[in-house]
Amino acid sequence: MRSTRTSSSATGTALAADSLGTVRPVPYWLDQSGAPEPALALRGAATADLAVVGGGFTGLWTALLAKERDPARDVLLLEGRRVGWAASGRNGGFCSASLTHGLANGLDRFGAEMPALDRLGRQNLAEIGDAVARYSIDCGFERTGEMMVATADWQLPGLADAAAAARALGGDPVLLDAAGVRAELDSPTYAGGLWDRDGCAMLDPARLAWGLRQACLDAGVRIHEHSPVTRISRAGGGLRLDTRQGSARVAQAVLGTGAFPPSLLRRLKLWLVPVYDYALMTEPLSAGQLASIGWAHRQGAADISNQFHYYRLTADNRILWGGYDAVYYNGGRITAAQDQRPATFTMLASNFFETFPQLAGLRFSHAWGGVVDTCARFCAFYGTAHDGRLAYAAGYTGLGVAATRFAGDVMLDLLGGEPTERTELDMVRSKPVPFPPEPVRSAVIQLTRSSLARADRNQGRRDLWLRTLDRLGLGFDS
Ligand SMILES: Cc1cc2nc3c(=O)[nH]c(=O)nc-3n(C[C@H](O)[C@H](O)[C@H](O)COP(=O)(O)OP(=O)(O)OC[C@H]3O[C@@H](n4cnc5c(N)ncnc54)[C@H](O)[C@@H]3O)c2cc1C
Repeated sequence: MRSTRTSSSATGTALAADSLGTVRPVPYWLDQSGAPEPALALRGAATADLAVVGGGFTGLWTALLAKERDPARDVLLLEGRRVGWAASGRNGGFCSASLTHGLANGLDRFGAEMPALDRLGRQNLAEIGDAVARYSIDCGFERTGEMMVATADWQLPGLADAAAAARALGGDPVLLDAAGVRAELDSPTYAGGLWDRDGCAMLDPARLAWGLRQACLDAGVRIHEHSPVTRISRAGGGLRLDTRQGSARVAQAVLGTGAFPPSLLRRLKLWLVPVYDYALMTEPLSAGQLASIGWAHRQGAADISNQFHYYRLTADNRILWGGYDAVYYNGGRITAAQDQRPATFTMLASNFFETFPQLAGLRFSHAWGGVVDTCARFCAFYGTAHDGRLAYAAGYTGLGVAATRFAGDVMLDLLGGEPTERTELDMVRSKPVPFPPEPVRSAVIQLTRSSLARADRNQGRRDLWLRTLDRLGLGFDS
């Protein structure tokens, strides 16, 4: 019987050390040519109808959608550093239709609503494809789908259940046995697979962020970079946003600040924890190396362990290989130094060569980490503050490339004040279970991490701690 990996093998570790010898410690996507020149920081006093705080996908999509809804609306986007520098420009580039961090999580939490959420998520993905084409965004958008792979026999019933659940919603996933999945992508570790052929696209996230930035500018959005907002307060009938060198008086605002310290709206601290996720990028594969693994359909892939890897091909046939080690630094610290974690990179590289022994000798070109805005229900939550003048969305928990656009629509609906199908969703109206305050928060998260790893080693059996969290609706993921 196959089993999930428990630790790096000696061969894997040796190969890993060699393969990481010349790695660049920066996100691959952000290390390309084509980054736009930064926009000027906000200086002095500005006004606008709508201010968007944060230049990740949440902020960019919201600003663009606001202009699409009403080209006359005066929209100001304030980004603390550079547009797309954070999670949005350094992720795996899996652009998924799922708004709920996967079907199983959605069914668990919002069962009756899942047909609507599935439909809205697919519509959102289609509209992202349309926007990429309409604005000529050169981000390698490929509608390849995603293949979940089982790396242990005990995981196979889970794949069959997932296939049945997807079919019940009208999906048409392909359930593959070991031979079938290896015909798609060849790893000796595979026991089976489930390929959702149209629920996910692969893209280059930095180029998407840069393209959305340009689309925003072309639509008339005023963008200021290096303009961290330090305070949001009520002013007359609207809001005042202070930055280091300026301020803006606006009618309404949107918060798309991701995992960063939620000082602008303290209640977010209840629901969010910053969790680091790490990734490697290989050098481009030669034709022979690519032939040794197959991958003709270029679908995104991920295994279904609690500690899972996600991986995909780039346009020039590199492999991005990330995940597995979701790290919470006690106290919820976010520092640039934590973007690098050599022990995690070695483990990831070692697992890579266990998965694809045919690629022994391949080297990694880039290694990086980034912060994921994690909440206990694994999918975004939404809300308003300042008497409906400020809307926020966060908590995508590692699946926000597409869900951020849906969140933009939700926040604009909420600011509009009229109920819509989106604002009436239980997913939009409810909140995740809050995390306990520190230092209990750190203890709970570290205990959960080790229990999840133990469950993977134990044929998926969840211990008393995980079962208790399941009952409370509390979870931890990247
Ligand atoms: C390594 C990694 C891999 C991932 N892989 C995937 C994947 O394959 N598929 C997927 O769907 N999701 C993935 N994700 C998650 C996805 O990247 C995020 O869900 C998404 O990018 C969140 O976008 P955002 O705009 O909300 O946040 P961010 O991209 O973090 O942007 C927030 C922005 O707000 C700015 N900001 C913060 N505070 C202020 C302030 N006070 N004033 C002004 N600006 C401020 C920040 O500078 C930042 O630019 C991954 C994440 C990571 C880290």
